[in-house]
Amino acid sequence: MKICVLPGDGIGPEITAEAVRVLRALDLPLEFAEAPIGGAAYRALGHPLPESTLDLARRSDAILFGAVGDFSLDTLPRELRPEQAILGLRKAFNLFANFRPARVYPELVHASTLKPEIVAGLDILIIRELTGDIYFGQPRGIRTLENGVREGFDTMHYSVPEIERVAHVAFQAAMKRGKRLCSVDKANVLDTMQLWREVVTAVGKAYPEVELSHMYVDNAAMQLLKNPKQFDVIVTGNLFGDILSDEASMLTGSIGLLPSASLNDKNFGLYEPIHGSAPDIAGKGIANPLATILSAAMLLRFSGGLEAAAQRIENAVEKVLAQGYRTGDIAEPGLRTVGTKEMGDAVLAAL
Ligand code: NAD
Repeated sequence: MKICVLPGDGIGPEITAEAVRVLRALDLPLEFAEAPIGGAAYRALGHPLPESTLDLARRSDAILFGAVGDFSLDTLPRELRPEQAILGLRKAFNLFANFRPARVYPELVHASTLKPEIVAGLDILIIRELTGDIYFGQPRGIRTLENGVREGFDTMHYSVPEIERVAHVAFQAAMKRGKRLCSVDKANVLDTMQLWREVVTAVGKAYPEVELSHMYVDNAAMQLLKNPKQFDVIVTGNLFGDILSDEASMLTGSIGLLPSASLNDKNFGLYEPIHGSAPDIAGKGIANPLATILSAAMLLRFSGGLEAAAQRIENAVEKVLAQGYRTGDIAEPGLRTVGTKEMGDAVLAAL
């Protein structure tokens, strides 16, 4: 497998280095090539997603991504800001299915702001459609009406093929887990979402083993806090998924631990931690590399079909947490607080 490593900004280079060390230790036929992205690419080559970086990604089987974002570049025109790189990659590779697992490790139950009995044992997967919906719908804009009043407007939009392909991905993911899928929509108010529900229901006929349920997004937001363990896999559109997946990540209380994958229909994917470039701790060697290491495990699973290797990494992460290794973001009195590289060392030792 050819893996394109895009470290990016802030803590990105520190955490991706540890994930690459872990991948290399597996003794698999993996090749790595690195390119600049985000603010680092803007500084080096004048664009957050340079053609040379895009080319390298095109010649690869998967992307391991650190993070982008550099507050000192926030005054640049929007198209040159570091965060545009990620939108550019999603578009270039048609990465329409975003996988965000949220899992609570037994040792970290107390990191959550919710009561331990609500989150202990939590293991859910949110699949968010990533390339459609109101974020991309046309027309959109800000206009002045004839009466002089200004208004903003956006268009919510989903076609049947767009809903079908993400629904298939979600049903297939549910087949590999607890065989329960909850589709979240707002079919009671929005026509687009009425179509969403209709299409997801129709696709479900091909997966009789999966128990399909539907929930309105407002209720889903409440249920995620009230009884999150009722869910196995959730599938939803871009807008609702953006909000619900962040809500779900907070059930675990530790963004330094949560991986993600964004896939297209050819199993090409971009794998990244859900957190950003954390400029406040960049360069200090204290960032938690586990979310990136777990993203590397997802890369092996989804783009490489290497389930056993993915599980080896996940088991190693579980083991280091059980052994009491903690980075600063999840530090606990009495346990061993380590830096980024030491955490990587601990995972290697566990492997
Ligand atoms: P952030 O996720 O970078 O940081 C939020 C807080 O969590 C900070 O206090 C940070 O120190 C801490 N944190 C994050 N990751 C950590 C880790 N691995 N280990 C320990 N602590 C960690 O979010 P932010 O501060 O709002 O944004 C910083 C920059 O990142 C911004 O420029 C933003 O646009 C960008 N961003 C990028 C992505 C991405 O690359 N996909 C995602 C979110 C934010």
